[in-house]
Amino acid sequence: MNTAIPSSMKIWENIADKSLEKILPTREEAEAILKASTEETLSIVHAAYRVRRHFHGNKVRIHVLQNAKSGTCPEDCGFCSQSSKYQTPSAQYPMMEVEELVEGARKAKAAGAWKYCMVTATRGPSNRDLDVICEATRRIKAEVGVKVCTSLGILNEEKAKRLADAGVDRFNHNLETSKRIYKKIVTTHSYEDRVQTTRYAKEAGMEICSGGIIGMGEEMDDVIDLCYALREVGATSVPVNFLDPRPGTPFAHLKNVEPYYALRVLSLFRFVHPDVDVRSAGGREVTFRSLQPLVLYVANSIFTNGYLTTPGQGESADHQMIRDMGMEPEIAGGEFNS
Ligand code: SF4
Repeated sequence: MNTAIPSSMKIWENIADKSLEKILPTREEAEAILKASTEETLSIVHAAYRVRRHFHGNKVRIHVLQNAKSGTCPEDCGFCSQSSKYQTPSAQYPMMEVEELVEGARKAKAAGAWKYCMVTATRGPSNRDLDVICEATRRIKAEVGVKVCTSLGILNEEKAKRLADAGVDRFNHNLETSKRIYKKIVTTHSYEDRVQTTRYAKEAGMEICSGGIIGMGEEMDDVIDLCYALREVGATSVPVNFLDPRPGTPFAHLKNVEPYYALRVLSLFRFVHPDVDVRSAGGREVTFRSLQPLVLYVANSIFTNGYLTTPGQGESADHQMIRDMGMEPEIAGGEFNS
């Protein structure tokens, strides 16, 4: 019997070997991953799993989002149903109270969360927003014991420092897409504004969570540019979203990306970001559909209980999927009993 590894499989295994040494794929290798056939995709996922298992074992970091202030955002991000520029059915409410945010953290912890992420639909946080978020963070750290992430838009040095001083562990600010096509996605702030905010957050002492959205009409080159740019900003957490087109937004007409392509995209992110959290973020259920469990072979993190404006499959289905894959949730500060 011929047990030799097919030459095409060797390419992916060589990429994985390098990634295990934190040597990034070349641009040509990145292109080969994205352009590979459906038949090749499971070999790529297998190679990515070797990297996932080496750096992250069989643990899954579960994140829970709290939409702390929803809708009426002055920015014009073309994918977002919370922008005031578009007529969408998205919920609108002002900043939640501190007590509501702390209660949300308690529920997140009960759902097995590694991290609780408070998000506001704003260009950047007002001083009043920061008062609430900082007070909620201090109480969550003291009373709940779950890690805290915030996503509040554009920061300056002073605002970043306030958040870090309050105990925020990580700040999310996605690059969203490549620098090349950024203006086609957003016009009210620039790609450089986004990079600068990640710098302020990092300099203040917070970890950087930064990712993007796939499926907004970009080329494969843009996906590769985004993937490498996220290393340059020093992201220790990389959420990979797949567009779930929202009614009323300029991108409402776009189609979900194909699940096998999405697996190759996730695998590329794993090879380029071997030792950091790669999260299968928004659009997981609608993009991967019946292939969804395969996501866990590549990503070591997911959101549960839905996204900012769309529902997910729910925490019990997520926990069942994790157990069925022989994996287990990783809990901040303690064991999780599902
Ligand atoms: S993505 Fe954020 S900044 Fe852009 S419109 Fe939506 S809430 Fe506003």
